[in-house]
Amino acid sequence: MSNKLKNYTNGRWEAHKGEGFSQYNAITGNLISTAGSEGLDYEEMADYARRVGGKALRKMTFYERGYMLKKLALHLDSIKKKYYSISYLSGATKGDSWVDIDGGIGTLFTYASLRRTMGNQRFYVDGDTAKLGKNGTFVGQHIMSPKQGVVVHINAFNFPIWGMLEKLSANWLAGVPAIVKPSEITSYLTQAMVEDIVASGIVPEGAIQLDCGKGHGIIDSLTSQDIVTFTGSATTGRMLKSMPHIVNNAIPFNMEADSLNAAILGEDAAPGTVDFDIFIKEVRREITTKAGQKCTAVRRMIVPEKYLEDTQIALGKALSQTVVGDPAAEGVRMGALVNRNQLEVVRNRVSEMAKITPIIVGDLDNFNLVGADKNKGAFLAPIIMLNDDPLNKTQSHEIECFGPVSTLMPYNGIDEAVELAKMGKGSLVSTIVTSDVNTATDYAVEAAAYHGRILILNEESAPESTGHGSPMPQLMHGGPGRAGGGEELGGIGSVKHYLQRTALQGHPSMLTEITQRYQYGGAYKEKDVHPFKKYFEDIEVGETVITAKHTITVTDIVNFANVSGDNFYAHMDETSLEGTTFEGRVAHGYFVLSKAAGLFVDAKKGPVLLNYGLDECRFTKPVYPGATIGVRFTCKEKINQEKKSEDDVAKGIVKFLVDVYDETGETVALATILTMVKKRNQEDEL
Ligand code: NAP
Repeated sequence: MSNKLKNYTNGRWEAHKGEGFSQYNAITGNLISTAGSEGLDYEEMADYARRVGGKALRKMTFYERGYMLKKLALHLDSIKKKYYSISYLSGATKGDSWVDIDGGIGTLFTYASLRRTMGNQRFYVDGDTAKLGKNGTFVGQHIMSPKQGVVVHINAFNFPIWGMLEKLSANWLAGVPAIVKPSEITSYLTQAMVEDIVASGIVPEGAIQLDCGKGHGIIDSLTSQDIVTFTGSATTGRMLKSMPHIVNNAIPFNMEADSLNAAILGEDAAPGTVDFDIFIKEVRREITTKAGQKCTAVRRMIVPEKYLEDTQIALGKALSQTVVGDPAAEGVRMGALVNRNQLEVVRNRVSEMAKITPIIVGDLDNFNLVGADKNKGAFLAPIIMLNDDPLNKTQSHEIECFGPVSTLMPYNGIDEAVELAKMGKGSLVSTIVTSDVNTATDYAVEAAAYHGRILILNEESAPESTGHGSPMPQLMHGGPGRAGGGEELGGIGSVKHYLQRTALQGHPSMLTEITQRYQYGGAYKEKDVHPFKKYFEDIEVGETVITAKHTITVTDIVNFANVSGDNFYAHMDETSLEGTTFEGRVAHGYFVLSKAAGLFVDAKKGPVLLNYGLDECRFTKPVYPGATIGVRFTCKEKINQEKKSEDDVAKGIVKFLVDVYDETGETVALATILTMVKKRNQEDEL
């Protein structure tokens, strides 16, 4: 590794100017490299991102960008071993590094999968159409298009890879370029991956730039089309978010800050039960993973007063088994803090807090170390403090010790446990260990407003639980109040941060053409050839088949009841209809739909491979014997699919709107069917 870390700006790698910040090996204390921002022109970087990266990304569809994420995830996964060896320098064990490296790559994969949901357009069609006029000639539809700016990621030191990838996944899928500013403390690891991302050529030039240094001034030239996403301490976050430039230009600022997350032991989870052991195991993991340098780590353990002593003993026992030292040494379970500076900060905070809430497990100075030197590395043993009066001794709810440090405190009654959890003033996550439904419900319902995520852990959920400390890409990561009020991850939710929502209004025909999603009431395009005879590429949104008709008979109803076994009284018993909405025997809704299929299907073998289900289905008007039904069968939307393997059939999904109407022209049933249709071009990779 070069001694002076290079920044990547305007398509060039260049070593930082000036002396820079010295990055030290957390285990040995040796110098790794220096990082700096000196000489960077942030205005030029932002401009380059908008002009080059943004333009290139916006030319791609959501589908193409999702596919790009998948290719990148596969590439990084194939070379990930090297990041592990760099990650060790930060004091991380293999398990810690897995969370950062594999966790980050996994997030890319998850976001890549959203390409199927977000569609093959350069904008995202959001939600349902709103009917704005009585006659259906004026409707509204929200679309979301990429902001035409750049996102600046300001990241914390503790997850140099995951912190970057979890955000890039969302902004790239959205079509927005990024300037990544990792913490100067661990930017050597981020830089190693960015080098590979750039060299791979998988993402377009300008989609990523990197500032390995302090980054002061990086947000000063941003505009209202740009976005800042911040992860770090609440103090820094608040300082940056309230900068006049951010406020005056209404620059979106997503803040993920620190949080004093709680784990609550339910009263039913008494010592000796499986759930009690699960609690001990979970908090031990949270205290020791990444040496406690996780925003989601358990900082407060809230247990029934009657179990306080047993919990203290069990924790002492569990944590005494944690071997601290060089992660490369045999048997080591917990590595070091990131550097001696951080060690000093944490030690000072613990010393200060211990004056009021004494240390009951661990010692700041006396602990065993394997394969390393206490005077060189940044080591600390797990520390537990006791707060015997948590409603009044409030520092445990206010001060974050960003290390293997947590405070044990008693509660009486679930309401008090909730009260204590809320004293964190907004957290990323809390866990309650209980098998009791009432306890879980009381806690979840009352504590939810103060939390971004709540894990209910017990014997049943533990085997597959992803853990208190692991944000999942499919679910929201963030929290109110002190936790910053931001929302990261959470599937499409976080992609929306980078998109502008716009309400389009107009005639359904016009909106069909623009959105490429058929809008009810839009013009039907009748063609000579049935769509089932056409390949994916050749089917047009709005293309409609007006089918032949069928008059419903009592025999139809009886036959369908026999075939299906559905003898519901409204279909079968004319004498039972008093007090119902029906005027006579009514045809089964499923019969109406089945008969509709009989009318719209073109039976001969063609490019349609299969019908794999219904998305929405409504029976809107009773159909009685004597009614004559027909179908308006319209291509509603087309969704691309890439090949799963080289010998896979190239195909896409076509959604058809099945609008079944009666002799009055009124709709009696509506459904969306999903068909899989072969492509004409079998070479098509995407
Ligand atoms: P930090 O000191 O608040 O720094 C966060 C980031 O802000 C770093 O990249 C830092 O750069 C940068 N920064 C500071 N001043 C800046 C300025 N004037 N202009 C631009 N950038 C500036 O936090 P940290 O010590 O790195 O991380 C630990 C904290 O992060 C903990 O409190 C933890 O709870 C929190 N955290 C939260 C989450 C979450 O998702 N909520 C995740 C991880 C960590 P330099 O480091 O280069 O100075």
